Amino acid sequence: MDELQRTDPEVYRLIKQEESYQIESVRLIPSENYVSKAVLEATGSVLANKYSEGYAGRRYYEGQRYIDQIETLVADRAKSLFGAEHANVQPYSGSPANLAVYFALLKPGEGLMGLALPHGGHLSHGWSVSISSNFWRPIHYTVGRESHLIDYEAVRQLARAERPKMIVTGATAYPRQFDFKLFSEIAREVGAYLLADISHIAGLIVAGVHPDPVPYADVVMTTTHKTLRGPRGAMILCRKELAAQIDKAVFPGLQGGPHNHTTAAIGVALKEAATPEFKEYGRQVVNNAKALADELLARGFQLVSGGTDNHLIVVDLTNKAVIGKKAAQALDRAGIVCNHNTIPYDPRKPFSPSGIRLGTPAVTSRGMKEHEMRQIGAWLDTVITHVNDETVIGRVAGEVREFSRQFPAPGLVA
Ligand SMILES: *Cc1c(COP(=O)(O)O)cnc(C)c1O
Repeated sequence: MDELQRTDPEVYRLIKQEESYQIESVRLIPSENYVSKAVLEATGSVLANKYSEGYAGRRYYEGQRYIDQIETLVADRAKSLFGAEHANVQPYSGSPANLAVYFALLKPGEGLMGLALPHGGHLSHGWSVSISSNFWRPIHYTVGRESHLIDYEAVRQLARAERPKMIVTGATAYPRQFDFKLFSEIAREVGAYLLADISHIAGLIVAGVHPDPVPYADVVMTTTHKTLRGPRGAMILCRKELAAQIDKAVFPGLQGGPHNHTTAAIGVALKEAATPEFKEYGRQVVNNAKALADELLARGFQLVSGGTDNHLIVVDLTNKAVIGKKAAQALDRAGIVCNHNTIPYDPRKPFSPSGIRLGTPAVTSRGMKEHEMRQIGAWLDTVITHVNDETVIGRVAGEVREFSRQFPAPGLVA
């Protein structure tokens, strides 16, 4: 980045500082990852110079001889990796992609049913502060008070009573697997579309360690930057019959020109995700999450649903008498990055909830395994137990820095 350093030393310095931070910390945000050097190169390429409203072969601009080939290649890779009939690779990110799906298939005022935010759902699934609750009638299912699992019988009863036009599966803080077949049966029974929002788990599905929604859902949406380990963006996959409606909703319905540099980088990530190494990566992400969960359980932590089947863990800190935000801030000072999170039926307010959320996609990209998860679990325990002791936190910070440097991050140079 020599030229950036000369042109804008201020921005350059901040990027370099963030780079060091990413190298020297243990990043446990389950929606984050480390992309490869190849993905970074495509993201920073001359494709950022182009405008290409429309779709391959049907553009509103001339000069698309290479852009058309890139978009077609990337959509073909998406279709083949997920076994989908149609792929739209233009959405700017996950939230606008969900909006495009609703815009394509629902009329204003029709029922949109998703997992409640405090129970692990996403804002864009009709939560009150999201635009998705203004245009469509939000309906929310929840997890069980004791089990913390989706109660499919309750989902069925709610769907029968409310008759939603769309049911959304998917979450940002649900540590277990989804039964897409059962969701599709419920949706079919009440005449609703089924949208599987696999933003968090797309990489696990590709790796074969989470059930696949493509045979069951009418539409599948995923961000590309979480377990899938690509650039920040999103894709919509659907059956052929819905392709024209979906495409029209993305452009011109919601967006202008696609971000071609992102599209190309998504293509690179999809190629990487089709390798045996990526399957092994997905397996290790889950094994690491289980190892971290076991270590925390052994140390007396309470986990939402009692553990994990995927890449993330939600820790209920109530029995430790530490609030989530305070724990997350102390951990960040120790070089362990996570976020505070609500727990199901949280008695505390959303901006200061009772839990923290942990995930293993980023640390697994750095080659960490079960042994390292046990070490991270020990540090989590130490910091949370000594949340007011800056001497202890400072000592852990030194150990974390030393430890992290031994695991080179893809795309970064130590
Ligand atoms: C991350 C996420 C989104 C939104 O993606 P953005 O790119 O942040 O807009 C939507 N749905 C789910 C389930 C997510 O995890």
